[in-house]
Amino acid sequence: MSDERIDRIRSLIRDVPDFPKPGILFKDITPLLASHEGFVTCLDLIQERYASVRPDVIVGIESRGFIFGAALAARMAASFVPARKPGKLPADTDRVEYELEYGKDSVEMHRDAIAPGAKVLVVDDLIATGGTAWAACELVRRQKGEIVGAAFVIELTFLDGRRKLDGIEPFSLLRY
Ligand code: AMP
Repeated sequence: MSDERIDRIRSLIRDVPDFPKPGILFKDITPLLASHEGFVTCLDLIQERYASVRPDVIVGIESRGFIFGAALAARMAASFVPARKPGKLPADTDRVEYELEYGKDSVEMHRDAIAPGAKVLVVDDLIATGGTAWAACELVRRQKGEIVGAAFVIELTFLDGRRKLDGIEPFSLLRY
């Protein structure tokens, strides 16, 4: 992977301390999205990684995973499926809970979203503890989808989210 392209993407991520609460260093991707060249480079790099895999479906995780996932699906001639926060999807929905540092959260997917055997790429902007991505993968597995990858713009390696995805090798453009 070209270091120049990665360096350029890295320069477009803004660190915001203490957001949304004290002690969190928030990785703000809005400068990246505001740069046409930066955003396109991100899509290029993820597309290059998975082009030979030819995913049938891209699952984007609410909400920033929608931005990258939907754009990738359109480019890669795949369908786009949203994994959403609870209570947002209108039709028959499945839910997977996952642990947070304090408490629980969950993600949902329509039960008819994935055809059995479909090759699925899960996409989000960032993997931290890996709970959200794990839950999205679990929803796909319940519908007998085959997970062919999990792609992120940013990986916070010190939180070891990749361990939670056991068996799935995450692909990330930037590691902190
Ligand atoms: P996790 O389930 O811990 O892997 O958290 C991943 C989700 O939380 C992703 O959807 C991210 O958008 C969001 N997230 C977690 N930590 C951060 C952070 N430091 N900066 C920006 N987004 C974050």
